[in-house]
Amino acid sequence: GSHKYSGMVEDCCCEYETVDHLNEEGLYPLLQDLVKTPFFRYFKVKLWCDCPFWPEDGMCRLRDCSVCECAENEFPETFKKPFSHGLSPDNPVCQEGKPEAVVDRTIDAKAFKGWTVIDNPWTNDDETDNADMTYVNLQLNPERYTGYTGPSARRIWDAIYTENCPRYPSEEFCQEKKILYKLISGLHSSISIHIAADYLLEEATHVWGRNLTLMYDRVLRYPDRVENLYFTFLFVLRAVTKASDFLEQAEYDTGNSVEDLKSQSLVKGLLHNPKLQAACPLPFDEAKLWKGQSGPELKQQIQRQFRNISSLMDCVGCEKCRLWGKLQVLGLGTALKILFSVNGQDNMGHTLQLQHNEVIALMNLLNRLSESIKLVHEMGPAVEKAAGVP
Ligand code: FAD
Repeated sequence: GSHKYSGMVEDCCCEYETVDHLNEEGLYPLLQDLVKTPFFRYFKVKLWCDCPFWPEDGMCRLRDCSVCECAENEFPETFKKPFSHGLSPDNPVCQEGKPEAVVDRTIDAKAFKGWTVIDNPWTNDDETDNADMTYVNLQLNPERYTGYTGPSARRIWDAIYTENCPRYPSEEFCQEKKILYKLISGLHSSISIHIAADYLLEEATHVWGRNLTLMYDRVLRYPDRVENLYFTFLFVLRAVTKASDFLEQAEYDTGNSVEDLKSQSLVKGLLHNPKLQAACPLPFDEAKLWKGQSGPELKQQIQRQFRNISSLMDCVGCEKCRLWGKLQVLGLGTALKILFSVNGQDNMGHTLQLQHNEVIALMNLLNRLSESIKLVHEMGPAVEKAAGVP
């Protein structure tokens, strides 16, 4: 079906209808398969809740938020160290739905051959700090309703919006700052859509399903939030296509050659998607922005703001939300890093290099956004009907 958005997505190079078509007929199915492959389903993350702001309010112990970590036998072989002694004999089990259980991090970075050698200047976590990192199977931890609400959640969004990307009156608002706002807003829309799409409708009986009213109240009744979602999707999509040289040559190696070949060919299928090339070859045109003299300075400024946003993720008082918050912020940071590179080089003249974790975050973010766009497109009419919109 068609929805009420038409014409060009603001600041982008494609139309709403094109995006919907391209997504549903091409990108969405590919991405769904891609994120299930072993390379893309494990994410390395520091899950400690060590918030530098608002320290002692015990926010890190909320219900229904535990992340289900990988069972040992699921770890891709090549992520393991040659000698894996020192592991706890207890297999950590999935803890979702057991709110009182604390996540067992016994099997963490020690069980893996580290991937990461350099730190991402866009984010706050030092990814080389293996001691604090753990690996999580994303497939076991879908982004959905967790029960995380109230002042703790609210103040994080507030801090992100007011401190990092304030909304100035449009005229004096430079284009680039507006982009940071739109990226955050688009991500926020996508998170809200996922909450609404997979909601605990009845606590007592554990019935999960769609909450159409919530989808309307949080996102669909605000056209700019929907627009920002499309914008963010196109922005990240452009970053992926811009990094295609790197992504095509990267080794998707987990020791499972059949699955790894699948990762590789799905990435290729995404980068050389005929529908994408025909319908929307340049989803976003970064050359129009941050090109002038203020480029390097602007980059530093956005980088600083983005790091603040990244450290705010340590304050998210729900482990699963923190997981997805961190992943998606890293994904956006990676997209920014790619789109700020020129001719495949950063401003120091180094060839664009992406870490495993950055590639994983980027693709999983794109997949989340793709899911949200599909939901908005498909559910839009039903949502409006449920909300009583004439
Ligand atoms: P919120 O979503 O908290 O929004 C706060 C305010 O921000 C709104 O009142 C509005 O003024 C503004 N706003 C809302 N949406 C937009 C937008 N798209 N663009 C611009 N401004 C906007 N909860 C879960 O159940 N599952 C999760 O996985 C999850 N992940 C989270 C990840 C992060 C990083 C954070 C900070 C929170 C997460 N939460 C999650 C909590 C969730 O996002 C909401 O904060 C919570 O459900 C309360 O919602 P709310 O109605 O108060 O509005």
